[in-house]
Amino acid sequence: MVDNSKPLGIILWFTGLSGSGKTTLAEAVKASLKKINISVCILDGDIVRATNHQNLGFSESDIKSNNSLIVDMCVLERKKYDVVMVPIISPYRQSRNEALMELSPRFYEIYFSASLECVRRRDVKGLYDKADNGLINNMIGVSPNNEYQIPITPDFIINSEKDKLSTSVGDLFRFIVFQLKKYSGPHK
Ligand code: ADP
Repeated sequence: MVDNSKPLGIILWFTGLSGSGKTTLAEAVKASLKKINISVCILDGDIVRATNHQNLGFSESDIKSNNSLIVDMCVLERKKYDVVMVPIISPYRQSRNEALMELSPRFYEIYFSASLECVRRRDVKGLYDKADNGLINNMIGVSPNNEYQIPITPDFIINSEKDKLSTSVGDLFRFIVFQLKKYSGPHK
């Protein structure tokens, strides 16, 4: 239920290559925040695509449509939760800027830094292997048609290539708690 006395939830827009750690960190930090009674909603780009919008593929225009739909979902979910996390590759600066315009203030772009070599090595979902074998076109970061545009001024950087998962969980947890404290005033 929507509680209008609560401030709108903060939005954490996780952007980075597939395999850079967005989903893993969202789940882990959600568990830590739950322990201190902070409610979290995770709007996972893949899940939204698989459930509500099965027609959307990975062409540039479909990726942009998917990103816009998720912005609309953030508008609703932030009324119910303290924190909305959006693990979504979101390779285009234009889409991320649109999210910022729609959802600011209380919007934070979190860049998940990991090189293509690193995420290829992990290949959590087997997608890079499929791309190399021609089973997937348009793989973001691999296909020349679908480059990943690195954020220029992210609000926070998680370096999942260099840091251990436990370090990143702690870093992100502290960042979120710090931002929430800034906004613990009345609903605007
Ligand atoms: P994405 O959601 O970005 O596609 P995943 O979270 O599915 O990526 O996969 C990231 C992988 O990287 C996981 O196997 C995770 O355990 C590993 N990993 C290693 N170090 C980190 C870190 N510091 N932060 C997040 N994930 C990490």
